[in-house]
Amino acid sequence: MSMIDRFRLEQKVAIVTGASTGLGQGMALGLADAGADIVGIDYVQMDGTKEMVEKLGRQFHGIVADLIKITPDGLEAIVADVVQKMGHVDILVNNAGIIRRQDAIDFSEQNWDDVININIKTVFFFSQAVAKQFIRQNTAGKIINIASMLSFQGGIRVPSYTASKSAVKGITMALANEWATHNINVNAIAPGYMATNNTKQLRDDEVRANQILERIPAGRWGLPEDVAGACVFLAGDNAQYINGYTVAVDGGWLAR
Ligand code: NAD
Repeated sequence: MSMIDRFRLEQKVAIVTGASTGLGQGMALGLADAGADIVGIDYVQMDGTKEMVEKLGRQFHGIVADLIKITPDGLEAIVADVVQKMGHVDILVNNAGIIRRQDAIDFSEQNWDDVININIKTVFFFSQAVAKQFIRQNTAGKIINIASMLSFQGGIRVPSYTASKSAVKGITMALANEWATHNINVNAIAPGYMATNNTKQLRDDEVRANQILERIPAGRWGLPEDVAGACVFLAGDNAQYINGYTVAVDGGWLAR
């Protein structure tokens, strides 16, 4: 197989959580452009993403679910639904995530629990449910988790987010260790500061926005297509020997 062919994802089915907007939408489009059919999961409708995936000539199946509240059984049911509709699953992108900003001294239990539930508990149990399916299918599988700069740094006013994203980096390694023998690769992408809803509050604060921009060696905020390239690479055969690694896509932020 040629190098270029090893990037191709035809005949693959990719689940992307949080596919309605932002990085999840960008990665869904990247994977579809590389040939994959897409299952999007979000708590809102994903009409825009569906239209763009179909324009690329690929199938899109949307499932509406609240990933803060969902149980492990609920995640198993989603996998069963995907298999019934699409026949199989090959790639999982655990992208859906939230951030809550509040001073650590006043940080509420709700802001702790909501972030921990979607950013780490759901990531773990969805990975488990999909890995069981990979093993049942007896096929190779790829799991790509979305980490953060705050998998490496402390952050300001976002303690539950930092805890959750540090945990994402940790379980990415833990699951890669246990599942590599099943031909399942588990890796993560750590986006830098990207222009999406997640950072709207920061970008609206002129002082913070300038402080951040000045510190990014690339001199610009990142875009969904910046993470899509790393996602397609990690989802394909060229990344077969990459296990448990968190790749920064950050315009050089961590190198500074
Ligand atoms: P976003 O807010 O634009 O998108 C988040 C997506 O998750 C949306 O589609 C949203 O509808 C979905 N979602 C939110 N709550 C949900 C719920 N309860 N159930 C189901 N779906 C839900 O943010 P984004 O920047 O695209 O973030 C995507 C991922 O990237 C997140 O895990 C985020 O932490 C991470 N990330 C973002 C940045 C950044 O700078 N934007 C940096 C590092 C990491």
